Amino acid sequence: MKLLEERIREDGVVLPGNVLKVNSFLNHQIDADLMFAIGEEFARLFKDSGVTRILTVEASGIAPAIMTGLTLHVPVLFARKTKSSTMNNDLYTAEVYSYTKKVTNCVSVDQKFLKKDDKVLIIDDFLANGQAVKGLLDICQQAQVQVAGVGIVVEKSFQDGAQWIKDQGVRLESLARISSFEGDQVRFVGEE
Ligand code: 5GP
Repeated sequence: MKLLEERIREDGVVLPGNVLKVNSFLNHQIDADLMFAIGEEFARLFKDSGVTRILTVEASGIAPAIMTGLTLHVPVLFARKTKSSTMNNDLYTAEVYSYTKKVTNCVSVDQKFLKKDDKVLIIDDFLANGQAVKGLLDICQQAQVQVAGVGIVVEKSFQDGAQWIKDQGVRLESLARISSFEGDQVRFVGEE
């Protein structure tokens, strides 16, 4: 997605540890117009896949997931990292190691929001080693739902997650695919 790549180039900041900081437009302050365009693009890619529900993980996945749900007219469910006091014990849970925070969270969703006849689209902001997506796929497996695919805003293709998802036979659509960081420069797949 050209618009997204241009914005990453303009406003993304490369940090040590192969981390791209995009908090001025994607995951802290949010450019709502760009996020809406991201949702429209995911909706276009998955419009014929029979998606009935979108699944993401809080917090940074919520914005792209909502914009996609808005366009596809399906509910958006996010896995919580802390258990809310209003949640009962009927939960699907998975362990997710956070790439940026270096902690393991137990993420959970209420079982009543995933039905066996659901076809789920998983959305997240970044794909690095695939831990977040693995956790969400694990939850989908527990709920015995079909997975339409995975939609990622920024894929770091040089890390392990993308290949792992494809190896599972799961469709992966990433809107920006980074092949490497060179100093403070971002290189996208196809630019080598
Ligand atoms: P994974 O689970 O695929 O290893 O990492 C994906 C998760 O870690 C995303 O949900 C995102 O929150 C965070 N993450 C991974 N890499 C980056 C990065 O380069 N920049 C930012 N801002 N977050 C990242």
